[in-house]
Amino acid sequence: MRARPEMPLLMLTMLGALALASTDAAAAEFATAIGPIVGGEDGMVVSSNNEAARVGAEILASGGNAVDAAVAIQFALGVAEPGFSGIGGGGFMMIYDASADAVTVIDSRERAPASAKPKMFLKKNGEPIPFAKRRTLGVAVGVPGALAGAEYARAEFGTRTLADLIAPSIALAEDGVIVSRLMAASLREHQGVLAANPAASALFLPGGQPLAIGDLLVQPELADTLRLIAEDGIDAFYDGPIGEAFVAEVKAAGGGMKMSDLAQYKLTIDEPVRGQYGDYEIVTTAPPSGGGLTVLQFLEILERLDPGQYAYDSSLRYHLVMKAMHLAFADRNAYLGDPEFVDIPPGWLAPKYIKQRAALIDFDDNTCPVPPGPLAANPPAPAPAELLGGDPQTTHVNVADRWGNLVTFTVTIEQHYGTGRLLPGYGFFLNNELTDFDPLPGRPNSPAPNKRPLSSMAPTLVFHGGEPVYVVGSPGGPRIIGAVAQVLLDLLEYGLDIEHAIAKPRVYSAVCSEKARWELGLSPEVRAELESIGHRFRDEPREVGDVGLIAIDGDTYVGVADPRRDGVAVGLTRADDD
Ligand code: GLU
Repeated sequence: MRARPEMPLLMLTMLGALALASTDAAAAEFATAIGPIVGGEDGMVVSSNNEAARVGAEILASGGNAVDAAVAIQFALGVAEPGFSGIGGGGFMMIYDASADAVTVIDSRERAPASAKPKMFLKKNGEPIPFAKRRTLGVAVGVPGALAGAEYARAEFGTRTLADLIAPSIALAEDGVIVSRLMAASLREHQGVLAANPAASALFLPGGQPLAIGDLLVQPELADTLRLIAEDGIDAFYDGPIGEAFVAEVKAAGGGMKMSDLAQYKLTIDEPVRGQYGDYEIVTTAPPSGGGLTVLQFLEILERLDPGQYAYDSSLRYHLVMKAMHLAFADRNAYLGDPEFVDIPPGWLAPKYIKQRAALIDFDDNTCPVPPGPLAANPPAPAPAELLGGDPQTTHVNVADRWGNLVTFTVTIEQHYGTGRLLPGYGFFLNNELTDFDPLPGRPNSPAPNKRPLSSMAPTLVFHGGEPVYVVGSPGGPRIIGAVAQVLLDLLEYGLDIEHAIAKPRVYSAVCSEKARWELGLSPEVRAELESIGHRFRDEPREVGDVGLIAIDGDTYVGVADPRRDGVAVGLTRADDD
């Protein structure tokens, strides 16, 4: 670790700009714009991380397409935000192929190993192991799909070799990443988990202190790991030394993963779910992510109530938003699981059902509890909120290229730093994605061999008149749903400017009996009015997701990065454009 003097964030962004203009000869033919809100006619990258955005923009500028850029960004995020995502995780990548006018979802969600047991998250007395402990266990580690997903995307849609797409990340790991405000805050918050692991402590807590903003994080072991993958392909993991070390570490942590689990890892190409808001079509993720269906149900329930008639900042509007969230989450938490293992009842978005659910909303009372709807004869009880995970907040990226191809992609290792176990000698974290399972057995989202835990990821595309108009997504675990849904409501119902749609204070309330999460900007008066009808709020505000957005306006892309995380948009315009 070498220290660098602390400098303002704006300066860090400018360094990115200089690198973009000077490191790639082909970049010279592009003008580039970098900032929280920028335009570009020939390409756009939006990421919460400026190093990752720079890597993606360089790939676009040198002739790569949106999928090439997204894959390169995936590797770069694993270096620049190693605590949030990486090759030890998995995700959902949605691709719009402009020439085919087709959407593909590559689902690289982690799977439980063959040894997984329905009761693996229970104590001997049958109670769930507390989440703080559960998140660190070897049995919480899912078989990573990130590399399989990246390689599938590249081979099917990309134009570059895997080695080309990994190369910038090897350099980033070797040269170092300047610790951002976000990383510094996260290291302080999760210091306890990191301190328990010698490899993680050595890297992130040198001398016992977390790296601070402006420090340089150099990751030679991760560079070597990436070099091995660049040379030998993803089999270096699924059938090679990296996988062997991974499996050994999971075993040492009490898990039962084997090389055969890695060899048998199977990604899926999922049919997205589609919904309608006004004359916009919304295309989003299907189970095993509950993100898309829950976002759509929320929006369609609210649309029934004609929310545009209520002032945006009024307590009544926030009340309706929270009640629609309770209804949609009640169905999500009761019915959804991996569709390879459970029959998910149809009718989620049927107009009659939506009407019936919307009619349950009382305009002046936070009526509680909100049971799941009658999608099946005997609705299962929703999983209790307190059993459903901690506070994940990982990574999302949006990319558009000069050919009109679009990628929206969320990739994660679940909690910050996953299990907190950094793979010794290889420098990446073991995910704890299996904590997204309901810890109680016998339910739709209970653990089972080879099963995928229910996600909330919701990379989403919005179409109007058959043309894509918005590319959107967020990290944030279940708060992804609240964040993406509210931004879509802002855009499609309220017609807010894109920057306001992102910046407006959001709320998150999945279960009516729990204290709601709220963001700075939600006035004390509005909160007091909401409390007077039965809502309860956490004491302190905290962010709800981190939404990245690309708006497509004719030939122009406008990228907006969420100020919650100091993200950046990078727009490219060819110098010879008219
Ligand atoms: N494990 C969470 C999920 O799949 C993580 C999501 C995220 O924040 O990226 O929903």
